[in-house]
Amino acid sequence: MEATTLIESFRVDGKVAVVTGAGSGIGRASALALAGAGAAVVCADINEETAAATAEQIVAAGGTGEGVALDVSVRGDVDALAERVLAERGGIHVWCNIAGIMVEGPFLEAREDDLDRILSVNLKGVFFGCQAAGRVMVTQAEGGSIINASSAAADAPSPNIVSYAICKAGVVQMTKSLAIEVGKKGVRVNAVAPGFVLTGMTGRYFVRPDGTVDEEMQEAVIGPMRKFTPLRKIGEPEDIAAAVLYLASDAARFMTGQVIRPNGGVAMV
Ligand code: NAP
Repeated sequence: MEATTLIESFRVDGKVAVVTGAGSGIGRASALALAGAGAAVVCADINEETAAATAEQIVAAGGTGEGVALDVSVRGDVDALAERVLAERGGIHVWCNIAGIMVEGPFLEAREDDLDRILSVNLKGVFFGCQAAGRVMVTQAEGGSIINASSAAADAPSPNIVSYAICKAGVVQMTKSLAIEVGKKGVRVNAVAPGFVLTGMTGRYFVRPDGTVDEEMQEAVIGPMRKFTPLRKIGEPEDIAAAVLYLASDAARFMTGQVIRPNGGVAMV
């Protein structure tokens, strides 16, 4: 659809979007934002129930959403999802590789199986998603937009998350390299590199196994983060979803190979 005003160009009406990691946190907020702005959203997550819950919320709000179980580290499943969405919906215009995991611990004690696990989701999972989406998008007259989740951890090194950080740095380079290859086909590839955002991933520091919050621990974690951040706040998933929506939309039609950093100012690159 041709946007007639600048503000309309931020909408994504008529686009088909796939969001991985859509069952929780940033992926969920991104799926909701895209659907709210007019896209039909395929909500993919390793957790079938949470993926379905996000899709249900989209539908309840009057949008178009579908939940699917997907492990992004299984290449055949990622390819199959792209092929099915293309066959059923006639195209894929936006693909967000948001699914990710954290592995934490001192570098000198890091285990190979943990390294393999995080590489398979955070790096290979993004690779497979880019490839499956890119193959569809280069054949479409309208091209497409791929959005990958990097992290401020790729900009500002922190202790105990080296395997996570190398994945997120790899995502940045993958984004740029792919952007070069597919730009002439009208396919844009960009990344978001969030700062600290309250989600299931970061809640591991203070959410107890029964789901309750250890408020003292929460403040012990968040307090210094807030103080260290120029904007004196930590992020909410919607802060990142706003960047995802922009990159998905035609408002970002001249943006490719870029990293957008909604991070409160913790890293300025
Ligand atoms: P989150 O709340 O844990 O959401 C991640 C989602 O991905 C979860 O629903 C998770 O399912 C799912 N997932 C895990 N492994 C998967 C797989 N193999 N295939 C498909 N889905 C899988 O985390 P988040 O904070 O929203 O993180 C989203 C992305 O942003 C990640 O790539 C993360 O690295 C990045 N990021 C987050 C922050 C932050 O501060 N939160 C900062 C920078 C970057 P389960 O819950 O069932 O595992």
